[in-house]
Amino acid sequence: MTTALTTEDVTLTYPDGAGRLTALNRVNLRVTGGSVAAITGPSGSGKSSLLAVASTLTRPDSGRVLLETINGTVDLATASRHTAAALRRSSIGIGFQQSNLVSALTAVEQLEVMSHLGQRLLTSPARRRETRSKAMELLDAVGLADHHAKRPTQLSGGQRQRVNIARALMNDPSLLVIDEPTSALDTERGAAVIDLILTVVRDRGAATLLVTHDRTHLHRMDAVYRMVDGDLAPDHTAHLAA
Ligand code: ADP
Ligand code: MG
Repeated sequence: MTTALTTEDVTLTYPDGAGRLTALNRVNLRVTGGSVAAITGPSGSGKSSLLAVASTLTRPDSGRVLLETINGTVDLATASRHTAAALRRSSIGIGFQQSNLVSALTAVEQLEVMSHLGQRLLTSPARRRETRSKAMELLDAVGLADHHAKRPTQLSGGQRQRVNIARALMNDPSLLVIDEPTSALDTERGAAVIDLILTVVRDRGAATLLVTHDRTHLHRMDAVYRMVDGDLAPDHTAHLAA
């Protein structure tokens, strides 16, 4: 197995009045390529904070966040800003709750822009064609090929969420972090989005952290953890869901 994310005793605190609030308290987990670790837990328990740390957006106070890829192992907790930014472009797919789609761009352009980030030179026509065909392939994989020319306001909540997931896959990430992808969706569309995530993760081999409070899908995940007040523990009751 060449791809994995491992957190070792990751602790994160935020300033809180005169003291500090512990959002993550010595969190340990490991997820390997092609599998999905689900994180559940009450609101405010630290789930999004864990994804922010795993995706280099927030630096923990202590602990290690080891990303293993075919290129070697890097500790995301101590990576430089430059290295972290390069990793986000090359190896980490991020799908957060507020999907941050750009209102002026069509669905296919939302994906294409990911490939052109960080490129200082004008990209060649051949490279642009390659990017377009990859973006179309991913939109097709999420069932949106026919909607590729629509802007966010012309798409439903579920469709925007699927654009968001396709966009996170645009750089063939080793690590995929997705925060509550079904929270704005009805049961049926939520199930379709979970199906999609499980399929693409298994096909493409990304190590995936999926935050969800929807217990009906937990039995399909490779591992389930529960976060309570910054403490993460395996959830052995998850198979009883659904
Ligand atoms: P969850 O995703 O499980 O709802 P979060 O990770 O968003 O939980 O938040 C965990 C705790 O950290 C909460 O008490 C929240 O208020 C606090 N928190 C989150 N982000 C910040 C921040 N940027 N600054 C200060 N406190 C924060
Ligand atoms: Mg959250």
